[in-house]
Amino acid sequence: MRVLVVEDEPQLTLALERALEAAGFAVDTAYDGENGWHLGDTESYDAAILDLGLPKIDGITVLGRWREAGRTMPVMVLTARARWAEKSQAFNAGADDYVTKPFEMEEVVTRIRALIRRAAGHAAPEIACGPLRIDTNGGRVSRDGMPIALTAQEFRILSYLAHHQGRVVSRSELVEHVYDRDADPDSNVLDVLVARIRRKLGVEAIHTLRGQGWRMEVPDDGA
Ligand code: CA
Repeated sequence: MRVLVVEDEPQLTLALERALEAAGFAVDTAYDGENGWHLGDTESYDAAILDLGLPKIDGITVLGRWREAGRTMPVMVLTARARWAEKSQAFNAGADDYVTKPFEMEEVVTRIRALIRRAAGHAAPEIACGPLRIDTNGGRVSRDGMPIALTAQEFRILSYLAHHQGRVVSRSELVEHVYDRDADPDSNVLDVLVARIRRKLGVEAIHTLRGQGWRMEVPDDGA
């Protein structure tokens, strides 16, 4: 899962980036509204955290432009502005959540996870796929109740496929959602990682569709 942070206060941005990365997200950052708008308009994100008071273009305008352009990722507004009129304006512009500063980092991370899950159509924090359980809050995976140890990168890939299970996820889509902009993954690294995840899962859950991508699915009979 990949998150965009648009915030002009460098220390806060760094703290958010670190917390989100520790929670398993790929993170891109922007320090002004113009760059933030551009990234959100052209890159693929599973969620965005958006400050309102930003240089160049203010947060409400950025949000409004994303929505006008059909960008549907969940957006959490993170701001010191706590008046209802300001909250209302943000929601009217297309915000999905609103957190006021100061805040608990843990709360922001938990809310972002919930927003991403909801946007993918999952109500509960635990995503089931046959005998597999993917705990999106705790970052844990189990098969028939037995824990499976995955690296952070493996979990990121599995989590994305699990959020979107039942449909084909292309290679480029997966790359866009599990790596940040600075990453330059080797073309076959994903195949290696997916093969490793598959081995660890020990169940036919990730299917390769040659030339198309991958689909996560376990038939109802559990085969
Ligand atoms: Ca600000």
